[in-house]
Amino acid sequence: MAETKESSVVASRVLRKERTQMPKGNTARKKHVTPLKITEVGHSTMLIEMAGVKILTDPWFTDPILGIVTHPHSIGMRLEDLPELDAILISHGHFDHCDLKAMAQMDKSTAVIVPEEKTAARIRKLGYSEITVLTKWESRLVSRVCVTALPAGHLAPECTYVISSGDSAVFFGGDTRYIKEFRRIGETFDLTVALLPVNGLSFPLIGKVVMDAVDAAEAAVQLKTRVAIPIHYNISLTVPFLKRLFDGRVTGTAELFAAELKRRNRYVKVVVLNPGESWENT
Ligand SMILES: [Zn+2]
Repeated sequence: MAETKESSVVASRVLRKERTQMPKGNTARKKHVTPLKITEVGHSTMLIEMAGVKILTDPWFTDPILGIVTHPHSIGMRLEDLPELDAILISHGHFDHCDLKAMAQMDKSTAVIVPEEKTAARIRKLGYSEITVLTKWESRLVSRVCVTALPAGHLAPECTYVISSGDSAVFFGGDTRYIKEFRRIGETFDLTVALLPVNGLSFPLIGKVVMDAVDAAEAAVQLKTRVAIPIHYNISLTVPFLKRLFDGRVTGTAELFAAELKRRNRYVKVVVLNPGESWENT
């Protein structure tokens, strides 16, 4: 499979589109025809199938800390049931986005895209050979699909991404907090779908490290996406001490996000997926 790293200059020429003059989120935009299917595996782990290319975001399948932090319900797809992937896309190195135990069991010939060298080194140690570190606004091709790294704000070095091909473009938000660059991203890409974290995790002194439902609704508006899918809101702590520590620090839910976005812009369609469920742009 031909995979080429592109300079940001070339990528911006490839990606920049003439935006329509339609109002934000207007359903009269031209119909998207590039085949696009998004399946929720769980948390921020999403399987994006675009133009025949399969990309898995932020894999989290295994229990990283002896049952202390777990998915609250079953994962939508078992590791062994994943299709053959063209790329794995990592937003940052936290365990719930870069599950090294799971990646050790996956096909090491799969291309991996990461936001910084430290995470790349950890993945390289597993035996992966094709690892690309993308800096902000830099792109690479995965077959017919272009992946562009974009700004993010979080506790760890992180990128958000746009995955695009033909007339489809998907924004993947990892677990970023709200950033002012969303506006520029929305002006650069004609987004079909935005996958937006909503749990609103915050800590004393540090503040919010992940968007809450209100932030994510505003992000959807600024990104000018047609469809918004909430992610990163189901996590469970099994130890009472940690439950107390996190009590009140995780406030966002998919329902709050849907209500808030409907209040702000009724033209953006909200799709809430349960693990294992898919959305297609039919
Ligand atoms: Zn994180």
